Amino acid sequence: MPELYYDLHLHSCLSPCGDDDMTPGNIVGMAVVKGLDLIALTDHNSCKNCPSFLKIARDYGVTALPGMELTTSEEVHVVCLFADLQDAMAWDAFVYDHLVRFPNDEVVFGKQQLCNEEDEVVGTLPYFMPNATTISFDDVYDLLEEYHGLMIPAHVEKSSTSVLSNLGFFPPDSRFTCAEVQKMEHVHELKKQHPYLENCRIICDSDAHYLEHIHEPVYTLTVKSRDPHDIIEALRTKP
Ligand SMILES: [Zn+2]
Ligand SMILES: [Zn+2]
Repeated sequence: MPELYYDLHLHSCLSPCGDDDMTPGNIVGMAVVKGLDLIALTDHNSCKNCPSFLKIARDYGVTALPGMELTTSEEVHVVCLFADLQDAMAWDAFVYDHLVRFPNDEVVFGKQQLCNEEDEVVGTLPYFMPNATTISFDDVYDLLEEYHGLMIPAHVEKSSTSVLSNLGFFPPDSRFTCAEVQKMEHVHELKKQHPYLENCRIICDSDAHYLEHIHEPVYTLTVKSRDPHDIIEALRTKP
């Protein structure tokens, strides 16, 4: 069974906080240089750079998933991953409709740049994308099921914008089976405090906003095949 070096939480230049050098092409190129096998693009509340990202990744022979980092109504960040681009783009439209909208100030927050398959900037998004949506954390799992997406609470031990910082605990009726940490060294302590995590697959991603922060090939995921559906299935399943 293939063992893939992964980094599944990456921001492109579509995220205002993402560096302008984080074009889909540069991200894929850096992943190749670093020796990663599996990457996902997870911009704030948007999948709109995923079509170019997937196309370029295919050209480079890197396995890539479309994704998003959703901001819930409680300002909790959730990584959403998909096997199919079509599902991701349908989810993108749903989230865009539920975004609390105010105009992005490029000078203050940074640009939100859309790129085409040639990796050229072709536009920008008008609203500040990391803003909260009206989607509550409790509803994310069921909603994502409708779009065949996988729910992964992001950087759970982070002191802000995480489920633990903003809700204080994992809601007892939670059903997600994969969670992301900032540091694998934190997992032992986290599991002691939050036994819910014992039933989860724990992944560690870079949350890179700059090319140099993309992970080195350290963490692996064992999969049945490189088919995106098998990858989502592996992430969904406790090891
Ligand atoms: Zn985040
Ligand atoms: Zn992020």
